[in-house]
Amino acid sequence: MIIPVLRIKRTLVCMKFPVILLLVLVTKISSAQQKNNNGKLPVINYTLTINDSDLTSYKVEMHIAGVPDTFSVAMVKHFEYDDKYWRFIKDFNVYTNTGNGTITRKDSALWEIITTAHEAVLSYRIQPPDIREWHGSWKAFLASNGALVGGPQSFMYIVGYTQTASQIKLNIPEAWAIATGLHTAKDARTFYASSVYELTDEPILTGILKTWQFSIDNVPHHIAYYPLPDTKSFDTFLLVEYIQEVVKQARLLFGGLPYKDYTFQLIDGSYGGLEHSNSVTLGANSTELAEGFTDFLSEMAHEYFHSWNLVRIRPAEYGDVTYKENPLAKELWWSEGITVFYADLVLRRAGLPVADANRIGHLEQLMSSYFSETGNTKISPEKVSLAANGAPGMLGDYNASTHLQGELIGNMLDLIIRNNTNNKRSLDDVMRNMMKQFGKGKGFTNKDVEQTVTATCGCSVQDFFQQYIYGNYSIDFNKYLQLAGLHSNVSWIDATDDENRPLPDLRIYAWLDAQHKLLLGITNPQSVWGKAGLHTGDEIISISNIPVITQKDFFAAIGKLKIGDTISIEVKQPAGIRKADVVIDGYKKAKVQIEELTSATEQQRKLRWHWLAGN
Ligand SMILES: [Zn+2]
Repeated sequence: MIIPVLRIKRTLVCMKFPVILLLVLVTKISSAQQKNNNGKLPVINYTLTINDSDLTSYKVEMHIAGVPDTFSVAMVKHFEYDDKYWRFIKDFNVYTNTGNGTITRKDSALWEIITTAHEAVLSYRIQPPDIREWHGSWKAFLASNGALVGGPQSFMYIVGYTQTASQIKLNIPEAWAIATGLHTAKDARTFYASSVYELTDEPILTGILKTWQFSIDNVPHHIAYYPLPDTKSFDTFLLVEYIQEVVKQARLLFGGLPYKDYTFQLIDGSYGGLEHSNSVTLGANSTELAEGFTDFLSEMAHEYFHSWNLVRIRPAEYGDVTYKENPLAKELWWSEGITVFYADLVLRRAGLPVADANRIGHLEQLMSSYFSETGNTKISPEKVSLAANGAPGMLGDYNASTHLQGELIGNMLDLIIRNNTNNKRSLDDVMRNMMKQFGKGKGFTNKDVEQTVTATCGCSVQDFFQQYIYGNYSIDFNKYLQLAGLHSNVSWIDATDDENRPLPDLRIYAWLDAQHKLLLGITNPQSVWGKAGLHTGDEIISISNIPVITQKDFFAAIGKLKIGDTISIEVKQPAGIRKADVVIDGYKKAKVQIEELTSATEQQRKLRWHWLAGN
């Protein structure tokens, strides 16, 4: 997934596969291993109730049979984010055939249940936070005209029985429609999930929704739009048309669709997106859509492309669902970066709106960002991938983007493959080969990508991977751009705002760690902060002699600084207390320009033409 840069920090992604078979392959846990003493999996029927006479909470019941009399339930922690909805559980009760059982909380997201006769009914309410303000599109909410429920925010699961299938019945207001990637079961309000993975992967959007439908390859695609009460009108005909064009292009690339039914869940007043196996949840702010579709399409194409790359073609580290810490993956430069690469390319191929007029202009923007954020040039994509979903501060005194590194690497690999195959093959063929090899749940590693590129290209990319995937080298762009008769120049200019006024160097951040200490983050050791001897992980004690405890305090103190100001910041470092007087200055950013070489050969010009056309 991706969250717009200006609106927060990072990106979510998602993973998973529809069929049970796949999950078995992924997790290497057979359902036989999870059976109880009777040789059967437990049976779970969920009922989720939204009562429109009380919209402060919704209720979940789990009717469980065939479990040991002592078992545990937990809430899944998503691979890419942790909204900690266990904080919003209320009125948790267990009922048994002989009366009430017992519930003991063992950890934040883990409870032990004692029941009788191998049966129990668990009942709890979720009181989601009030997020009427701008919010992440994947966050559960409950409003008078609709809700986003289900997923890891709503459903507990029985620990150790993740292969258990379940039925989900929705008791919701009569007039509310339902849009979800869960499989429809016996009626329009009852659904089926073949595993806990599937259950928690597919959220449920419900409410007074605007809906559309189209089919491609006889596969139904549903679009559902949840409007805020003050929603602005926008061109819904174009919206549907554009989504359809993106689906067609992705289908053309892969030669088919990987699902049997697909749902676009569009949520007004929210940002970002999250991909699932058979659906995608997307921020679709009506005010922005009324002005144009460029940003939305970029986000939509990205999340939709994840249906293949990341959901089905999964990093090897990703396993089954858990309530514990999820493993970090070294392959996100591929899962995210190549997805961004294709989000752009698919839109261009379809002739839909994009931010940069052509691929050269787009590459100039990407390269300018790459050099401006020095960490991109100094830390390997493998390490940056690990940090993408890891704790803040993993990249030390640098910041870097796995999306950006990956998109640039995708462009360079595309040029290499085109050059070595006389334009007969491209990154498209690598993508198709990755889907063939890894699309059914066998996780991939970076070595697998290297081997697939090598086989597709018929050339060695060993040095390329050694330097630019596993190694901490800055990409030598001109070496690859010249294959297309192109050359780049980097210049350094003052970083300025929209009105050309120099920006103060505020390249610094802060976060609260598990012990609620406020820690400092440096994004570049050459920033005014880095040069003052401050480091990522320093504990912030005070700013201008005033104690600072929260992120809000920190950003309030930093955000008002101007060039020429001096700020005193006191931190605790391993060596002791340090008080630094930081003089705020401007800073430089990179500006990349790409030119066409006048001396380009016929072969180079031909490659350039194909690459620019994206075919
Ligand atoms: Zn993503």
